[in-house]
Amino acid sequence: MDINAVKDRTHRCVGCSQCFGTGPYLPFADGEQTVSTWKCPTLEYYKFFTNTARAKAFFARELVHGKLEINEELEKIFFSCPDCGCCELLCPPIPHMFISRAMKAALFQKGLIPEECVALNDNMREKKNLFGIKNDNRANWAKDLDLPKQGKVVYFAGCYGSFRQVKTAWATVALLRKGGINPAYLAEEEQCCGLHAGFSGDIELERRLARHNVEALKRAGAETVVFSCANCYRTFFTDYKALTGEELPFKVVTAVEMVTELIAAGKIVFKNGENVRTTLHDPCHFGKQHIGHRRNLYDETRQIINSLPNVEFAEMEYNRRWSACCGGGNDVTSSVTPEFTDYHSSKRCREAQGVADVLLTPCVRCVKNLSAAAKKHDIGVEVKSLLEFAAERLEK
Ligand code: SF4
Ligand code: SF4
Repeated sequence: MDINAVKDRTHRCVGCSQCFGTGPYLPFADGEQTVSTWKCPTLEYYKFFTNTARAKAFFARELVHGKLEINEELEKIFFSCPDCGCCELLCPPIPHMFISRAMKAALFQKGLIPEECVALNDNMREKKNLFGIKNDNRANWAKDLDLPKQGKVVYFAGCYGSFRQVKTAWATVALLRKGGINPAYLAEEEQCCGLHAGFSGDIELERRLARHNVEALKRAGAETVVFSCANCYRTFFTDYKALTGEELPFKVVTAVEMVTELIAAGKIVFKNGENVRTTLHDPCHFGKQHIGHRRNLYDETRQIINSLPNVEFAEMEYNRRWSACCGGGNDVTSSVTPEFTDYHSSKRCREAQGVADVLLTPCVRCVKNLSAAAKKHDIGVEVKSLLEFAAERLEK
């Protein structure tokens, strides 16, 4: 990932400041509505234009033309951004996410990445997971499930599903089994997807993990790989082809898509439950990031909620592609600047509190960030994994 690859595109900034937010915006070609009060999360938090996409495109341009050296100030600026991807929505001519990753790779080459990111990358390199736990323990969550190791549909639980948010992993298996699919699972052969390495500049580490996971999935006979973590899904969907140099030999889908199809086919039916008011946080990885790779996975999550009896649903003002970032930033911002994550997650929880009692999200990392903020600030909204919430309402 070399910043010179997009040299000519760093020139395309006309200084219009649309990427700052707070509209008015031109309408999108696909008819999606804009939200005129939206603002770039780093600009909102740090208040300086140096943290915006406009400034970062400028720094990249100066660097590729030899007018700027890699330095510690650039480290602070590029690692302040959660890479939510909204600037790419607002400014399609410039590949802002590519610029961000390439600049971080250049910083990494000079040893200029935050120590928190170095520590997480060391965990991934040595233990093959984000948390530095022996990877032999990776399958502990599934020890009573008797999941096969070979199969056409393979569940990729990811580090969070395996070690931190196991209820979501259990829920995913329960929902798929209810729908007639008994997924295979790689167990300790599964390794971290590598997302954090890629977003903190260590592209070679991300590549090594990608190659391992693809080969392990091939050996397992995967034709479809299903994810309950938006981050793992994004890494496979967006990065793995470029990292491994080959088309993925299997389909990658979110658990949300697969469950939606099973509901539509009448294979998953939910029972009546108590009346609950819910709202939904759309993860950035479901639609915003990376020109040419967007999936816009927004209807599926809402279809699941709408199929749950006695569950009311209300949108927050910032929804779908304008869903405010939880601030976690691929575990980069949550580890380097937890106060930034806390600011955005707590703001999001307060927004949810205005319309619902339960805030649902289909991403395990968003669950972590949002629930920590709700607890810390005593915000009266329960944060819950959408898959877990749905699995609790399965007919026995
Ligand atoms: S980066 Fe894009 S949106 Fe931002 S100022 Fe430049 S051209 Fe305008
Ligand atoms: S990725 Fe998000 S936070 Fe970062 S500059 Fe773009 S809009 Fe702002």
